[in-house]
Amino acid sequence: MFKTTVLITGASRGIGAECARTFAKNGYNVAVNYFRSEKNALDLKAEINDGGGVAEIFKADVSDEKQVEEMISAVVKRFGKVNVLVANAGVSKSGVFSDMTQSDFDKIFDTNVRGMFNVVKGVLPHMYERESGSIVTISSIWGQTGGSCEVLYSMSKAAIIGMTKALAKEVAPMHIRVNSVSPGAIDTDMLSCLTDEEKEDFIMQTPLNRLGKPKDVADAVLFLADDDKSSFITGHVLSVNGGYFI
Ligand code: NAP
Repeated sequence: MFKTTVLITGASRGIGAECARTFAKNGYNVAVNYFRSEKNALDLKAEINDGGGVAEIFKADVSDEKQVEEMISAVVKRFGKVNVLVANAGVSKSGVFSDMTQSDFDKIFDTNVRGMFNVVKGVLPHMYERESGSIVTISSIWGQTGGSCEVLYSMSKAAIIGMTKALAKEVAPMHIRVNSVSPGAIDTDMLSCLTDEEKEDFIMQTPLNRLGKPKDVADAVLFLADDDKSSFITGHVLSVNGGYFI
């Protein structure tokens, strides 16, 4: 018996894909959003459905309001509701601040901040209707501490933390919870810009002495999404960083 529907943005790869597997294993209907990686999304759908879960894929660029509206309508048509949103889609760009261009700024803010605004705004009416829902945003340790050579990314992730806390207060009277998971360095394609030496350096500075795995993040997201497990938690930023920043 499938109890709830989760929409996960940026679920074709990395952390989002692992969230999709984790929610499917826990009986959720999973709406997998992707943008460019259609093959990955199709493979993930097949993996989940072959394993006895329920998944469907939905293409949308989260930075495009119209595409997001159409995607959410399609998810509601397919599953009847959206109980949980995992707003995970994100991009990063490393480099010194003085080399960053207007185009870099637009790319990062269009996906990480406007994209977050679009998907959260799109699902809220469906949650208001049911007077329940749980939203989990994916921020970053750099949004909490600031990351050298990651200034634009840090700015965008700090914005997500601000939104999470403010919106949590605003929608709590409608029994909707809003929390954030803030990952440290997690071993996905996003870290491909780092050299092996930089990764080793990260590991050495991490008390638990390893990079995070997508599953470490997915388990935390599931906990915050689940009304049975975290019903009195809202506006919280849960760090999943191996003790790098406490
Ligand atoms: P990833 O492996 O690079 O995957 C990024 C995902 O975001 C992909 O599924 C991609 O979809 C999707 N995406 C990008 N732009 C999109 C857009 N405009 N519309 C829809 N989807 C879009 O990255 P990841 O490491 O899993 O990161 C997931 C989230 O965790 C991000 O928000 C990231 O900032 C955050 N995070 C990651 C780390 C880390 O160390 N990995 C640390 C802290 C926070 P397509 O490929 O289909 O386009």
